[in-house]
Amino acid sequence: MRKIIKNGTIVTATDTFKAEILIENEKIKAVGTDLPSEGAEVIDANGCYVFPGGIDPHTHLEMPFGGTVTKDDFETGTIAAAFGGTTTIIDFCLTDKGKPLKDAIKTWHAKSKDKAVIDYSFHLMISEINENVLKEIPKVIEEDGITSFKVFMAYKNVFQADDETLFHTLVTAKEHGALVMVHAENGDVIDYLCKKALEEGKTDPIYHALTRPPEVEGEATGRACMLTGLANARLYVVHVSCAQAVGKIIEARNNGIQVYGETCPQYLLLDQSALEKPDFEGAKYVWSPPLREKWHQDVLWNALKNGQLQTLGSDQCSFDFKGQKDLGKGDFTKIPNGGPFIEDRVSVLFSEGVKKGRITLNQFVDIVSTKNAKLFGLFPQKGTIAAGSDADLVIFDPNARRTISAKTHHMAVDYNAFEGMEITGEPISVLSRGEFVIRDKKLVAEPGRGRYLKRAKFSQEIEAPKQVVTK
Ligand SMILES: [Zn+2]
Repeated sequence: MRKIIKNGTIVTATDTFKAEILIENEKIKAVGTDLPSEGAEVIDANGCYVFPGGIDPHTHLEMPFGGTVTKDDFETGTIAAAFGGTTTIIDFCLTDKGKPLKDAIKTWHAKSKDKAVIDYSFHLMISEINENVLKEIPKVIEEDGITSFKVFMAYKNVFQADDETLFHTLVTAKEHGALVMVHAENGDVIDYLCKKALEEGKTDPIYHALTRPPEVEGEATGRACMLTGLANARLYVVHVSCAQAVGKIIEARNNGIQVYGETCPQYLLLDQSALEKPDFEGAKYVWSPPLREKWHQDVLWNALKNGQLQTLGSDQCSFDFKGQKDLGKGDFTKIPNGGPFIEDRVSVLFSEGVKKGRITLNQFVDIVSTKNAKLFGLFPQKGTIAAGSDADLVIFDPNARRTISAKTHHMAVDYNAFEGMEITGEPISVLSRGEFVIRDKKLVAEPGRGRYLKRAKFSQEIEAPKQVVTK
């Protein structure tokens, strides 16, 4: 099977140039001009950019949470991702205390088997450290190719791990070449503020934001950074939402601590006022960390532009407004936390970031794809356009105009948090390992073609820390 993409403008994290891409079987065979194309199917990308497929490092598909299960599973979630220009996702595998880590991985394989249309991998949650867990961690890294571990500093009595567990995880991960990811919010303080709000009869969705102020995220981010420095480990802070957390990451990086930060489209484009929408509609915008006052958006955009935040995850965690979000009517603490962003992550960053001059085209590719591949042990198989890499490619029309709506999106959920937003730029065709998944905006792949990806260990050579700025 040979294909050749002609007339497109190739964009990587470093370069923008006109060239052809020759695909043979699943791989990119060559990038250049006047490539031998006998017997190859010709794909005309005239007027379009060709990007490496997006890599979404943060999804929760078919995940039990808050007394229900996220609406999008590995089939609808990966189909929506592909429509949006994403060809790889890394989903969070939840573990149960007292049970083998391997059991959780089996459960996640069972959920994803025969469903995904694009390639996928798993991060693994660590909620306790004991002799069994310590024995299993090296096996999980070597046998399952899971090289990133997530620790929750929030969700008291549900997912939250204590500082001893976080520190021990950092030390252990460092020893075995893995990356630790944190949900950084102070769960103890949030628990106190929630109880107090409910006692005072404050039950509306807006109190979700008011009981998780930016300070609880800033404090936990700073604590995680300090502990990372002490362990001489590496840290990836998921869903950074506010100036307080960005400040702690910048401070840590300036002090030579190896910390990386992810933000999400929702924090760049929506603000706290959405939670005040009438008729309980604010519940559509309940996730954690919560949306912030609008001024935080400029801080996040600047941090992306300056490389102080490196990646964009969707934090896809979708619940229907009717039948799921309404579990929290009359008590905001019972609103299932999460929103639907897997489909629009790439397009909104292009439209709001590149088209509005906030980031460059090459930075955009780095943020939605390349950096994620590098941090999570998938580079150069994924995340770039080069001979030998998987032919995961997005043919993207930079001038197409469309309006985001739940009526036209492909996620299984009954609303879109960006409803009515007009954006510029749209994926036309999406290839995964040389096969069309989306062709001329239509799904042409069967569920189950996506493959599980074993990932390499964290490599300092691939993702060198930024030069330390000395004051
Ligand atoms: Zn998440």
